[in-house]
Amino acid sequence: MEKDATKRRKLIRVLLIHLAAGAAFALWLFLTGCPIHRLTGLPCPGCGMSRALFCLVRLDFAGAWYYHPLAFFLPPAALWLIHRKAWKLPGGKRAAIAVAAALGIALLAVYAIRAFIPGSFVYTEMRSSIFAANA
Ligand SMILES: [Zn+2]
Repeated sequence: MEKDATKRRKLIRVLLIHLAAGAAFALWLFLTGCPIHRLTGLPCPGCGMSRALFCLVRLDFAGAWYYHPLAFFLPPAALWLIHRKAWKLPGGKRAAIAVAAALGIALLAVYAIRAFIPGSFVYTEMRSSIFAANA
């Protein structure tokens, strides 16, 4: 009996945490956009990710690839990194560090590659930025 109440309280707490995180993420997406892009006029390595994820939700894989190729890898990796302990998923701390480092390196690599491909999302955004106008 007491165990059920504890389990229920824990479940409610987990649900509230996920609702708060989802609301914060939605607010960030719809109200502010990318703070780095807003401040500097330059896209950051993650710019285009939310548009890519919306494309994935609509099963528009070409659109997702255009806006951010890592949209195919980031959601499962982020879910694993955030929930691996709570869901008792395989992989220890060293694996988590390796996955996080690989994601960081991949973000920077994709950003650098897209910056030099004419017509790519990042290239277009950079050309329209205040820094590119002075170059
Ligand atoms: Zn950004």
